[in-house]
Amino acid sequence: MHPSVALEVRYGANNYATLPVTLIRGQGIYLWDDTGKRYFDCMSAYSAVSHGHCHPKLVQALQDQLKMLAVVSRAVYTDPLGPFLQKACELTGFDKALPMNTGAEAVETALKAARKWAYIVKKVPANEVEIIACENNFHGRTLAIISMSSEPQYRGGFGPFLPGMKLIPYGDAEALEHAITPHTAAFLVEPIQGEGGIIVPPEGYLKKCADICKKNNVLLLCDEIQTGLGRTGALLACHHEQVQPDGITLGKALGGGLLPVSLFLSRTEVMDVFHPGDHGSTFGGNPLAAAVGKRSLEVLMEEDLITRAADSGRYFMSRLQELSSPRIKEVRGKGLFIGIEINKPYDAHELCLKLLEKGVLTKDTHKTVLRLAPPLVITREEIDEVVEIIRQVLK
Ligand code: PLP
Repeated sequence: MHPSVALEVRYGANNYATLPVTLIRGQGIYLWDDTGKRYFDCMSAYSAVSHGHCHPKLVQALQDQLKMLAVVSRAVYTDPLGPFLQKACELTGFDKALPMNTGAEAVETALKAARKWAYIVKKVPANEVEIIACENNFHGRTLAIISMSSEPQYRGGFGPFLPGMKLIPYGDAEALEHAITPHTAAFLVEPIQGEGGIIVPPEGYLKKCADICKKNNVLLLCDEIQTGLGRTGALLACHHEQVQPDGITLGKALGGGLLPVSLFLSRTEVMDVFHPGDHGSTFGGNPLAAAVGKRSLEVLMEEDLITRAADSGRYFMSRLQELSSPRIKEVRGKGLFIGIEINKPYDAHELCLKLLEKGVLTKDTHKTVLRLAPPLVITREEIDEVVEIIRQVLK
């Protein structure tokens, strides 16, 4: 065991069920542990490392900016921020963007924007606003966000919760129609539920939700923190249904696997509810984050990572579907966002431990689903190697 493990256990909070491995180096889709053993990274830090580990263009952008200016706060203008926000807005088709650091902060920003928009624009009476979210969602871990979670472990011991949150079943557009009231500000939804188990809703779901929201003057907010930036084989997962939401959250891969960088993007009418002092973050939009964020978007396009994710994802999924094993209940997903649901009484966590032994790093969700979300740069040959290891482990 690496000596740092004992220190982490002794001095760290016990809030992660850590896999028994100490990683010391990463390059592309590969990771190496302290004994020199190599692993295929099939979790990409929960989709944060879509470009691959230590992408040379991104490391270069980070180093170039580091030599100039790193952090000064938003009390002043800095030269990388404007071009980063412009790039993000132009690529995604939104008017404005508000930079934060983590995904949860971007979601908090979306919730605050929606609430204030509802009071100012929709004229909902003071303190009456409702936000609708889905059962089985994962939007982060803050108190506002767990107030709309249906997962007992995320909530247990952390009440009281924020009022004004309503939950409906995922994938059921009619439930949304019924849940909306004149006080509803927004519907917040993941286009594919990630931490919930790579749950793909019925085709046409998001489009129906978009139409319902529009008809009822309710904002459609898509959490694309995990599904966005090419992961599902489209720039945004909502593009699979030609939906342009009123706002989205981006994070994870936006930081190029190097830094925490997140954004809330929206139409002007929504973003304009914010005035100086309403909202912010010391580190949000700092020069380092802005330089890396802009470069991560450029590299996504330069290296055609979105098409590659779509092609590789189709190939990976078809190879996995060929595996006939009594342990597999279903293989599902889109692009390189794939879940293998494991039949009971088999345990996806135990399979992850076996895969780790054989050199494939991934993490289950809720012990029932094996997640496969490698960096988007993975090749067919590498997919073949991973599938072969999975085949052996399933045996
Ligand atoms: N939203 C979604 C869809 C996520 O998958 C996650 C993290 O897994 C988050 C929000 C929270 O992001 P962070 O952990 O950066 O706060």
